[in-house]
Amino acid sequence: AVNIDNLNVHFGGLHAVRDAHFSVRPGECYGIVGESGSGKSTILRAISGLNPTWTGTIEINGIQQTPHRPKSFYRTVQMVFQDPYSSLHPRHTIDRTLSEPISIFRLDRAEERVRSALERVGLRPSFRFRYPHQLSGGQRQRVAIARALILEPSILLLDEPTSALDVSIQAEVLNLLKELLVSSGLTMVLVSHNLAVVAHMCQRVAVMNGGSIVEETTADALRDGRVREDYTAQLLAAT
Ligand code: ATP
Ligand code: MG
Repeated sequence: AVNIDNLNVHFGGLHAVRDAHFSVRPGECYGIVGESGSGKSTILRAISGLNPTWTGTIEINGIQQTPHRPKSFYRTVQMVFQDPYSSLHPRHTIDRTLSEPISIFRLDRAEERVRSALERVGLRPSFRFRYPHQLSGGQRQRVAIARALILEPSILLLDEPTSALDVSIQAEVLNLLKELLVSSGLTMVLVSHNLAVVAHMCQRVAVMNGGSIVEETTADALRDGRVREDYTAQLLAAT
């Protein structure tokens, strides 16, 4: 579970996240939508420990987080980015990419873990001998997801995970994420500017504008245009 309360992030004079407040139940996918620059990624980066300059409360599985996370944190929380190359080293084989976290954490059964991670994301075992450039964009994002899952985290943060993909591949990767959500009990936070993507994965959705969550609603309400805030109506009209 993830509990966020009174979260604020400043970059110099910019108040990038303002008093954010939401909680995500185990097994739930919580959506965050909003225009470019509204602070969506900044929230995920604060939760994931990538940005240490926040104030407020971030509680993960009941444990209050401090800006600097212990190494063990990365077995609990992992992130998938828009660009798969953010998780993949271009000159490392898939095997090396997937094995690295296993050796950092000195886990046993490395080969078995790599094989099963590839299987979970629908890639053939032989893909582990390839380099990222020998994969399609969708396959690369599957590897990035496998890398995020290899330490069996309980929380997966997804920042526009399908936005960089060809439209025909977006649905495939989205269906994979949905399968993982349903089968694994992972807790997810999904950021996207694409309301259809969020509606496919999430029930509860936060709408952000200018650093603030202006409305917490449901994907169904968004789809039916039942919104409380003018801003949300504008966002719906624009997408
Ligand atoms: P997009 O949909 O384009 O990804 P976003 O909602 O994810 O947008 P953020 O990346 O969270 O937006 O950025 C929110 C604001 O904070 C933006 O104005 C951005 O320029 C600023 N910002 C983000 N990271 C930093 C940083 N490290 N230093 C300074 N400003 C930053
Ligand atoms: Mg972003």
